[in-house]
Amino acid sequence: MNGLIDTHNRRINYLRISITDRCNLRCLYCMPKEGISQFGHGEILSYEEILRVAAAAVKRGIDKIRITGGEPLVRRGVVSLVERLSRLAGVRDLSMTTNALLLVEFADGLRRAGLRRVNISMDSLDPEKYRRITRGGDLRKVWEGIEAARRAGISPVKINVVAIAGFNDGEIEDFARLTLKDPFQVRFIEFMPIGSASEWKPEHCIPCSRIKERVERIAPLIPLSEGGNGHGGPARLFKFPGALGEIGFISPVSEHFCGSCNRLRLTADGKIKTCLFSGELTDLKPLLRSGADDEELGRKLDEALRSKPAHHGPMEGVMKRCHLPMVKIGG
Ligand code: SAM
Repeated sequence: MNGLIDTHNRRINYLRISITDRCNLRCLYCMPKEGISQFGHGEILSYEEILRVAAAAVKRGIDKIRITGGEPLVRRGVVSLVERLSRLAGVRDLSMTTNALLLVEFADGLRRAGLRRVNISMDSLDPEKYRRITRGGDLRKVWEGIEAARRAGISPVKINVVAIAGFNDGEIEDFARLTLKDPFQVRFIEFMPIGSASEWKPEHCIPCSRIKERVERIAPLIPLSEGGNGHGGPARLFKFPGALGEIGFISPVSEHFCGSCNRLRLTADGKIKTCLFSGELTDLKPLLRSGADDEELGRKLDEALRSKPAHHGPMEGVMKRCHLPMVKIGG
């Protein structure tokens, strides 16, 4: 099967599954000050239910799955979920987005269970700033997690940096230099006006064009063919001459990539979200819990897909349209 084709002729082959809305960090830009009201145990999908949705999606042409959260590693049994997802025939790419705090404990098990690659969120290289933006995180643990992932053979390790003016813009060059001697893919992501958590103001967002200009002052950037190591996604990828790693720029704000958007999201409470910036959700839980068969589930997925907009519309209205904070969506 060649994949789901949506009403705007895009091939949809990528499902991001949020397995929890709980997180062991409380990043300033991701989680509201007052915290979030968390889903109750009965509200979140069981692993069996997640696997049913994943299997139905894979049957329809999804071949790329990312596990996210909240923080996916805080949900008990995550390694067994990875193992079962990796065994679904048709999944050719299984990855995870994590803050890495618990990777030391999980890296080997995840690799054995079939996880090939990982995206690690790390917005500062300065322990004090990291502690501040995450409201208490320990940067040393992130580095230990990164090392554990590399030792376990999880590759590539991508480092996601949300660039925020006035917070970490002084570290852009330091992040870029990490790729000189290590095979990381450092990805600069524009700060998005998403969900009720965000303290977003347009002036906080640094366009990737400006980040790239600064990075290019270190050394020329060689453009890589689409996807670089083959897993670039929406990142435009480059490398410094002779560098072991790569640098990616992801510009959802200044230069949307709706025309090539290939993704669906499943929230931890069983809702399909077809566009990060839209408020529309299709709830699969009633079907999953009322004995519906796989055909019905598949039809509901098709219905959700039909609601995937051609374009996410102006950024100005996003916060009004989409009330879910990122910690409930999964990034
Ligand atoms: N806990 C995991 C982690 O830290 O990677 C996974 C969930 S987290 C919500 C997923 C990603 O979303 C992180 O890389 C985070 O930096 C990013 N993110 C959250 N809010 C964002 C925003 N307003 N703009 C850009 N990226 C954001």
